[in-house]
Amino acid sequence: MLYNMLQDLKGNIRVYCRIRPSICSEEKTVIDFVGNDGSLVVVDPMKPPKDGRKIFQFNRVFGPSATQDEVFQDTQPLIRSVMDGYNVCIFAYGQTGSGKTYTMSGPSRGSSKDCGINCMALNDLFHLSDERKDIMVYDIQVQMVEIYNEQVRDLLAKDSSATRYPFMITTMSHLEDIMIIVPFFICNTLNYHTLEILNCLSDGGLNLPDATMQSVKTTADVISLMEHGDLNRAVCSTAINNRSSRSHSVLTVHVVGEDVVTGSKLRSCLHLVDLAGSERVDKSEVTGEALKEAQFINKSLSCLGDVIAALAQKNSHIPYRNSKLTQLLQNSLGRQAKTLMFAHVSPEVDSFGETMSTLKFAQRAS
Ligand code: ADP
Ligand code: MG
Repeated sequence: MLYNMLQDLKGNIRVYCRIRPSICSEEKTVIDFVGNDGSLVVVDPMKPPKDGRKIFQFNRVFGPSATQDEVFQDTQPLIRSVMDGYNVCIFAYGQTGSGKTYTMSGPSRGSSKDCGINCMALNDLFHLSDERKDIMVYDIQVQMVEIYNEQVRDLLAKDSSATRYPFMITTMSHLEDIMIIVPFFICNTLNYHTLEILNCLSDGGLNLPDATMQSVKTTADVISLMEHGDLNRAVCSTAINNRSSRSHSVLTVHVVGEDVVTGSKLRSCLHLVDLAGSERVDKSEVTGEALKEAQFINKSLSCLGDVIAALAQKNSHIPYRNSKLTQLLQNSLGRQAKTLMFAHVSPEVDSFGETMSTLKFAQRAS
């Protein structure tokens, strides 16, 4: 009861922390204590134990042994809210390798074992739609985009990438007089559909009207679209180093429900966001494309932090317009919307600096 009242006072932002299992079980970790009440104690490996303890408090902390089902449990009521007309945003924050994609998509997209929040949320959406079919008829459609270097790109456009048109280049080796056939995928970033974000909050309109919108009837439909979207991202990761962790991926599920008796309509959307890795890149070590990427990522993540902190403090001005990410998510951050952040941390000693910066980011929001 008291907890619910506190929730109301704090608004509609919930912050969860998830700790990835240690890669090597023998290794010392920086996690000292995980409380059932959402408290977390980390220790600075460079300081004596009694001086190096830092305490954080979140809505809940999921330790390394938490299952995907346990992590989804608290998210489940939000899915019902989407069907009731609320906008919801669920996002995964953390350094590369801390488990963001594991939480959102599971260890491998499409497999039902350990499937992530995306898949469980969609199962629930379709299940609720079926359960309510005598009173509400739901139309569910999805869009999938990435934000890379402050550009929004359509990942579902049919001709958005050369992954759809692989072709073979044939070369002749004069020396050995044999023919070598090289499978070759072009990655022409100019082929991407770069999208403009519109500011249309009031009428329930779409803020990305030009992004490909696909009707979906089952979770399998969405998973197969996401696989296509992933391919469009992944093809470039060979050309640009580890691209998928350098861009934000946003799957948006648009729901329109029509009351079968009155004909009145409810519109809402669910954003499922796998953010770019939050690690700080040492500016002295990177140049060119990598430096540009790092600056765009730092900027958009700090804008996201500013928006969430402003919402948590109930400020009158919320700085949505400072980044493409916050503009895109504006309709599901604040106002009547519900927001859930999963802050991911790696428990290894080497990651202590990034772990502290993730926990501080998350603490600002809660
Ligand atoms: P990120 O998306 O943040 O870069 P990943 O989700 O790809 O990180 O996780 C990195 C690795 O750790 C992957 O091999 C993933 O399967 C594994 N992993 C992450 N979280 C968990 C977890 N909770 N349980 C088991 N393995 C995990
Ligand atoms: Mg990832």
